[in-house]
Amino acid sequence: MEITEHMPYMEQIDSEIMDKVLKLTEEYDYNKYTERDVLEAIEKDYIDFKDYGALLSPVAFKYIEKIAQKAKAETFKHFGNSVCLFTPLYIANYCENQCIYCGFNCSNQIKRGALTYEEIETEVQNIAKTGLKEILLLTGEAPTITGVEYIGEAVKICKKYFTNIGIEVYPMNSDEYAYLQKCGADFVSVYQETYNLKEYDKNHPKGPKRCFPYRFNAQERALLGGMRGVAFGCLLGLSDDFRKDAYAAGCHAFLIGQKYPQGEISFSVPRIRPFINNEKNGPKDVFERELLQVMLSYRLLMPYAEITISTREAPKFRNNIVGLCATKISAGVRVSVGGHDEEAKGDEQFEISDPRSVKEVTEMLKNKGLQPVFTDYIYV
Ligand code: SF4
Repeated sequence: MEITEHMPYMEQIDSEIMDKVLKLTEEYDYNKYTERDVLEAIEKDYIDFKDYGALLSPVAFKYIEKIAQKAKAETFKHFGNSVCLFTPLYIANYCENQCIYCGFNCSNQIKRGALTYEEIETEVQNIAKTGLKEILLLTGEAPTITGVEYIGEAVKICKKYFTNIGIEVYPMNSDEYAYLQKCGADFVSVYQETYNLKEYDKNHPKGPKRCFPYRFNAQERALLGGMRGVAFGCLLGLSDDFRKDAYAAGCHAFLIGQKYPQGEISFSVPRIRPFINNEKNGPKDVFERELLQVMLSYRLLMPYAEITISTREAPKFRNNIVGLCATKISAGVRVSVGGHDEEAKGDEQFEISDPRSVKEVTEMLKNKGLQPVFTDYIYV
């Protein structure tokens, strides 16, 4: 199957955004930027794609401190001192795809499982006891086992305990997103992993995820289905050119935000973490310095967008990035299927670097003079 080929059930919407993003990314040459371009971008109130490209360029490293100061001011302007807390809950790890960078890859011999509705309720009750009001539900991509109705029931259970529910499952059609929105879901996260078609092809040898455009247009279908917000990102370090991938993810989010101004936009910034079969991969490393540059650039491109920092990153980095540009932080995280109650029902997707509890992360935020926020949106 070609990566541009849709399977019969995949909805195709009339959208120009993918072509625009791929063209912009192809034309993006980060080596052509000068220090002057970077300084001009820092001085502007609103930056365009050229400025954004300058901030992501290697030459911008020299001004990272200045960029950070600007990003901090922008974050404060739009979010004040507040930082939202949430936790992910993996409800299943079955998957039909063979993404070579992922522990849930269907060719990996791992313990697989899907929580029953009773088990989901128990997990959710345990999470709710920590005080959290926002949850992110995750599955692999196995619609025959964890179909839209299963996810919908899980969302309904969460709705009893949480005010904000995100789903990070698999790309769906707009009517399926509409159904999940009616069940109570607020946010949809779909990460493109890489915007480089050749790398995408190489890293996704099997399964429905091979269809690049269906994945690319998922946020748009989610907004057409009535979701309140959508999240973007690429798996930094997956392709050999993280700058181009980050540039593409920013352009993608920005253009969706322009077309759907009612949609709340957020970014996540996953990096490759160790997992089984890791030696098969050959990513160029993205160190914390590069990760910081990407996050600061997202902030200046879309000052009002939420930026999430996950437990893939070390506590020290997470502590420093909140208030600077990150506005949402996970806490009390398990990346196995279940595991907030007793024994996990399925293996983990990756290793986490920050095992701190909700209480510990809350304390950290308070000690930094930040305001931990559990509910930032109320339906009336
Ligand atoms: S990244 Fe997602 S789709 Fe790919 S193997 Fe992992 S769980 Fe499945």
